[in-house]
Amino acid sequence: MNFRMNRRRRLYEGKAKVLFEGPEPGTLVQYFKDDATAFNNQKKGTITGKGVLNNRISEYLMTKLGEIGVPTHFMRRLNMREQLIRKVEIIPIEVVVRNIVAGSLAKRLGIEEGTVLPRSIVEFYYKKDELGDPMVSDEHITAFGWASPHELEEIMSLALRINDYLSGLFLGIGLKLIDFKLEFGRLWDNDEMRIVLADEISPDGCRLWDVRTNEKMDKDRFRQDLGKVEEAYQEVAKRLGILPEGIIPQEIRPEASEKDE
Ligand code: UDP
Repeated sequence: MNFRMNRRRRLYEGKAKVLFEGPEPGTLVQYFKDDATAFNNQKKGTITGKGVLNNRISEYLMTKLGEIGVPTHFMRRLNMREQLIRKVEIIPIEVVVRNIVAGSLAKRLGIEEGTVLPRSIVEFYYKKDELGDPMVSDEHITAFGWASPHELEEIMSLALRINDYLSGLFLGIGLKLIDFKLEFGRLWDNDEMRIVLADEISPDGCRLWDVRTNEKMDKDRFRQDLGKVEEAYQEVAKRLGILPEGIIPQEIRPEASEKDE
């Protein structure tokens, strides 16, 4: 741990990230760890270099989304493992967008993995670890006041727009965007409230399959013990053109985080 990190107040530690107080009011520092969990915390491990790559990948995707007018919490990357973000009030819903059947959908409905969906599907899960993030409908969300009908409409339309954009972006680098998870937050601008994309977008929360071979290039390699987990994250970054030249796998080690670039 370097002193810069210790100096900052740690506000929250999650499974893959830590949030620290930011340098200015209304900001936070998001630190990306190498820790990985799956199956509601039952499987735990580390993926060496994951934090460094996810920090970069999420920076890249959030910046691109910002350019097409999707509001996000992302401000700028600070160093190998940290980024400056706007402090938002997280809406306690995980928004999953699906294009092709995989994971829990395959299991729940008994549909073969890889089946192309007739159209993209948006699902909601209530963020509650103790309950294993149960699936909920828009009715639960609005009835319990987790989000208003208006907010939910905005979230749906942003999620679909993000899906359209990212599907095209990944297809351009030979990857199929099978499904992914998003989180949104409320950001106040004086008296006005906006819904913004929060959390991260990385192979931790996306399923990405190679277009030609259907090889999995995401966290399923960890979930299903498929091996070459680190390599898959590196390959995604490489195809996006953001694996910093000169960084070789050994250098994407946890200690590398401590250095500012
Ligand atoms: N996902 C996630 N966090 C979760 C649950 C799911 O990031 O807590 C992502 C997952 O990586 C996948 C998509 O959401 O890209 C759909 O996941 P699914 O519902 O199939 O659940 P899983 O099979 O991961 O349990």
